[in-house]
Amino acid sequence: MSYDFDLFVIGGGSGGVRAGRVAAQGGAKVALAEEYRYGGTCVIRGCVPKKLMVYASAFSEAFEAAKGFGWEVGETSFDFKKLIGSIDTELDRLEGLYQKGLESNGVKTFDTRATVKDAHTVVLSNGDEVTAKTILVATGGRPFIPNVNGHEHVMSSDDVFLLKDLPKRILVVGGGYIACEFAGIFNGMGSEVTQFYRGAQILRGFDGEVRGHVAEEMIRKGVNLHLGTDVSSIEKKDDGLHVTCTDGSSAVVDKVLYATGRVANTDDMGLEDVGVKLGRKGEIVVDEFSQTSVPSIYAVGDVTDRVNLTPVAIREGVAFVETVFNDNPTAMDHEMIATAVFTQPEVGTVGLGQEEAGDNYNIEIYRAAFRPMANILAGSDERMLMKLIVDKDSRKVLGCHIVGPAAGEMIQMAAIAIKMGATKEDFDRTVAVHPTAAEELVTMKEPVG
Ligand code: FAD
Ligand code: NDP
Repeated sequence: MSYDFDLFVIGGGSGGVRAGRVAAQGGAKVALAEEYRYGGTCVIRGCVPKKLMVYASAFSEAFEAAKGFGWEVGETSFDFKKLIGSIDTELDRLEGLYQKGLESNGVKTFDTRATVKDAHTVVLSNGDEVTAKTILVATGGRPFIPNVNGHEHVMSSDDVFLLKDLPKRILVVGGGYIACEFAGIFNGMGSEVTQFYRGAQILRGFDGEVRGHVAEEMIRKGVNLHLGTDVSSIEKKDDGLHVTCTDGSSAVVDKVLYATGRVANTDDMGLEDVGVKLGRKGEIVVDEFSQTSVPSIYAVGDVTDRVNLTPVAIREGVAFVETVFNDNPTAMDHEMIATAVFTQPEVGTVGLGQEEAGDNYNIEIYRAAFRPMANILAGSDERMLMKLIVDKDSRKVLGCHIVGPAAGEMIQMAAIAIKMGATKEDFDRTVAVHPTAAEELVTMKEPVG
């Protein structure tokens, strides 16, 4: 049977664009549908604009620190509109690059929503049907907002990038990546930030000490963090949003940001009708080669809810192309993926946290907590944390955790060694780079536990 295309990709985000482009480069006839903007969550309403906001928000502290180094900074002011304008220009540029990358490799693009009709047929929003030998679903996810009383007044992370003005008072709900990152962003930009997290400590799943250290520093920098607290209702009044909390207290703010997780974009896609199995939260169930329960349909990225990070979606897309188009079955390796949380202070982490490692291995802990050199003249009490979790038996480093400036940059490098199976003695043999904060990673001599 002949098809219109070898591959039809639904979704022009990190995973879909990379898979479509690489398949086309290899000679496949490829089409891709995107219903909103090319680049997807990462480029348009995720990693990129978020990181630009992190940079913007860090200046307030840098101006203060500069004084300790002899600078007379003078009066400063922050123009939120100008920042949003600059970010928008950059996103337009990046979106253009994504489109160009598809076009120049011969990928046919459809600027529209697409759904699945059968194992080889996609339907576009104008009713046109297109056939393909293989369909790749890379539709990502969207914010989840619980059905709290007054939820119509709240915003999600998508809305942050559409704000016209900087909120004077903002409540952030949630304790995960997005909530903690935006609490820091708004705090640095000058908003009065309150954060509610329902559990006992933010950043569930990360190393316990890392969680405590980040929370402490966020509070020190001015975030009004309430643990074990949730929203019971939100009411809009003339003077702002009146929030009633589960502990009976109340607050009045200008904006409420819900960062309470994300759900897969699988609604009304026709997937279950054609036999694609979905999981409990609506995510597409795939095997190690990203193949769904319908052999001609594959899925990569956040829509599969495996590890929801941009580089993972990209790698899954490339592994899919290797498997299906290059006759080289390739399973994405989800082990030891390094990640950074762009909180202030930043977190970089790879491998197991102390708690998880301790449950499964006989471990040793190496730790350094110190005031980085720059903070002394800056007059800041902020401390940095570095931690190695070592398997006593094999001597392998099971986990590395860094909290502090450039933690994300450092962990990328440490992750190479750890992924290769480096032992604590390999770290010890590596000569320090001085004077850096990173040198602590190779100079921690005695275990602390
Ligand atoms: P997406 O990038 O979401 O792309 C899916 C695309 O499909 C979208 O463009 C959507 O419009 C389109 N689409 C959906 N349904 C259809 C349809 N039916 N027809 C046509 N098109 C459709 N990850 C990191 O690694 N580092 C970070 O710093 C980071 N920061 C983040 C910050 C925020 C605020 C958020 C929300 C996420 C962040 N992430 C980060 C996660 C990262 O953005 C995602 O893991 C990544 O974008 C997933 O890529 P994807 O291709 O699976 O999906
Ligand atoms: P997370 O899953 O990281 O965090 C969700 C938070 O919301 C948790 O604290 C959770 O609490 C809380 N929560 C969930 N449901 C409710 C509810 N009904 N009421 C109150 N609180 C609730 O999701 P995010 O939205 O922060 O981020 C989604 C994903 O995007 C991340 O997991 C990550 O993969 C990716 N991402 C990556 C970034 C990076 O690489 N730097 C940055 C941003 C996002 P509890 O812990 O109790 O379940």
